[in-house]
Amino acid sequence: MSRILIAEDEPGIASFLEKGLNAAGHTTMVVEDGLSAASAARDRDFDLLILDLGLPGMNGNEALAEMRARGERMPVIILTARTGVADTVAGLEGGADDYVTKPFSFEELLARVRVQLRDPGSAEPPELSAGDVVLDLRTRKASVGGREVELSAREFVLAETLLRHPGQVLSRQQLLSNVWGYDFDPGSNVVDVYVGYLRRKLGKGLIETVRGMGYRLVDD
Ligand code: CA
Repeated sequence: MSRILIAEDEPGIASFLEKGLNAAGHTTMVVEDGLSAASAARDRDFDLLILDLGLPGMNGNEALAEMRARGERMPVIILTARTGVADTVAGLEGGADDYVTKPFSFEELLARVRVQLRDPGSAEPPELSAGDVVLDLRTRKASVGGREVELSAREFVLAETLLRHPGQVLSRQQLLSNVWGYDFDPGSNVVDVYVGYLRRKLGKGLIETVRGMGYRLVDD
């Protein structure tokens, strides 16, 4: 269990992060501006900071610069809008360890969090596999029978979610909230569409449809 500081001024995103991280066994504290982020990082003990760049007052990059200038070494994952590439680069140069582009799914964020919190003594296996399908969690690349297969970021996260729960039925709703996060229309058939893509790319027999319930990774 780790203590995670979340600096995010959009309440919907902050509570989405908080709920997910709490469910994953972490304790969290949310602050809504850069100055509070920098002071919470100084005054309290956290293992990781999730830092939105677009914060009121002192922005994320300024807060990060302040923290790094006084020698604060905790890992920092920045959250950034798709359009903010220049800011993202500045963030990485300013001492961030990783970044996630909004909109992001919770699984995607959690994968980054796991990497940053990884304790060398209890390293998570760098790969997930099922049959001849292998997902490399470090490079985010997939292969089938040793041959690399091109997956989009979303397809990879969906495959990763299924491979993390072999044999278990995952409902469309679970997959939507895990893979598409807060950024989805609950009525959409996007899960079915993406399962179709994965079957085409990774093999037909890998993902079973459980009628009226959802999908299951065939575990043999
Ligand atoms: Ca913001």
